[in-house]
Amino acid sequence: MKCTVHTDRDAAGVCSSCGRYVCPECKAVINGKIYCNSCVSARLDSGAWPGQADVAIYPSGMGSGSSVPPEIRGWNWGGFLLTWIWGIGNNVWIALIALLGIIPSVGWIVRLTMRIILGIKGNEWAWQSKRWESVEHFKRVQRTWAWFGVGLIVLQIVLMIAVIALVISLYMIGINIDRYPNWRSILPGL
Ligand SMILES: [Zn+2]
Ligand SMILES: [Zn+2]
Repeated sequence: MKCTVHTDRDAAGVCSSCGRYVCPECKAVINGKIYCNSCVSARLDSGAWPGQADVAIYPSGMGSGSSVPPEIRGWNWGGFLLTWIWGIGNNVWIALIALLGIIPSVGWIVRLTMRIILGIKGNEWAWQSKRWESVEHFKRVQRTWAWFGVGLIVLQIVLMIAVIALVISLYMIGINIDRYPNWRSILPGL
């Protein structure tokens, strides 16, 4: 590929904003992203640096009027794991449908469906329904939600193991207690 400006020179990258091929002379790397010179000057003129400029191109918090930056497309673990809790935190009120999960026997289907929908659409909906400073800010907050979700799952597993261990212990005591008719005597104060 050749540089879009200097058609006789080999390209050294692609502008992450406009997609033009850039040679080393036309290439600028800002915050780890490649930009062409005209995109850098356009962003400087508008008073926006990369990151902030993403928000200028893809304004967040405008409902269906917000177009979603391509960088944030993908699975949302926070929405998948935390459903309605994540929904409240991100102004995605449709996530509250997951609360119908408390309905006996069929509720889990509603919750599972909502989990998958939020996993797929979570990033898009959160970007559209809330104001974000930048793509980086959005990613940082969503990463925190994901870890919060993982933490909650781990906590649930630990609690479940603790309950199972307790039930097994009580059961073992129950089936063995007849063999030790004097068990009260080994406990202090009884
Ligand atoms: Zn460009
Ligand atoms: Zn060039």
